[in-house]
Amino acid sequence: MEPIDALNETAFLLERELAPGFKVKAFRRAAAVIAAWSPEELAARASDGRLKATKGIGSRTFEIIGEALEGRVPAYLADLRERTAETLAPAVAELRAQLRGDLHAHSEWSDGTTDIPSMVAAARFLGHRYLALTDHSPSLTVANGLSPERLEEELDVVAELNASAATGPDFTLLAGIEVDILDDGSLDQENALLDRLDVVVASVHSKLRADSATMTKRMLGAIDDSRTDVLGHCTGRLVQGSRGTRPPSEFDADAVFAACAAAGVAVEINSRPERQDPPDELIQRALEAGCLFSIDSDAHAPGHLGFLDLGAARAVAAGVPAERIVTTWELPRLLAWTGRR
Ligand SMILES: [Zn+2]
Ligand SMILES: [Zn+2]
Repeated sequence: MEPIDALNETAFLLERELAPGFKVKAFRRAAAVIAAWSPEELAARASDGRLKATKGIGSRTFEIIGEALEGRVPAYLADLRERTAETLAPAVAELRAQLRGDLHAHSEWSDGTTDIPSMVAAARFLGHRYLALTDHSPSLTVANGLSPERLEEELDVVAELNASAATGPDFTLLAGIEVDILDDGSLDQENALLDRLDVVVASVHSKLRADSATMTKRMLGAIDDSRTDVLGHCTGRLVQGSRGTRPPSEFDADAVFAACAAAGVAVEINSRPERQDPPDELIQRALEAGCLFSIDSDAHAPGHLGFLDLGAARAVAAGVPAERIVTTWELPRLLAWTGRR
């Protein structure tokens, strides 16, 4: 096994089980350190003691590199693989295999933990055909939301990556945004910039306790904007995790889902374990309203891209047909849909 792959997979699986960021970072840092050396150089450094004394290499990462160099799957990684292996129910595995990509993911440009190429590498590792990079918009300052200037810069990076070998012919990094739905229902980014994006996920992140009429009006404003493709985590609820719990926002679900269905806006099934948003009952109502769905990870780290398994399980439990899930669509169809505006 390649030592770099062993370190990266270890980081990925630790993130998948929501290990603390500092713990994960140690493995990625070690991978970055050894990436500078040829395989021969690495082997020489491992055997003569220089590797162990290298800054950024700890006892655990040293052990993993050593075992990988011996051609074995490192014991730590083998344990982790066993611990995190999920046996999906057959219907869930079937839907999961039909998912072609993910329309909601963050990088360190806003509040994600890694650079964009690391997210691309993980998406490709999972077999995705596309991933939408959807960093936050300006008003979400706590999440380092992107100003118009920074979004333009990010779009250049996305274009460069797509033109390089980092993505490859079978994978496309989509230019996107998770744009805040402002109090008045407008979208928190310049229209001309939104028009340039492949995918626009619109979400509410503030004043989640507003009364139903206020929240409904706000959400309908965003859905009526033809630039919106996906309605992100529609209730904002938190059901577990380090940020505590939060009840779902109140809004007129029938009005909101009818508007989504009419406008062709997909209702996101947010796969994050602490969100599980929308709740089952609302997935059911969106289904009855005729909505499209997008099963997204809302990844803030490469390993989080694996959360799609959880979203797939919820879609199956709710009886959502694969055809209604835009992320089962191949790229041309997906882009034809987002290009409807
Ligand atoms: Zn969000
Ligand atoms: Zn997000």
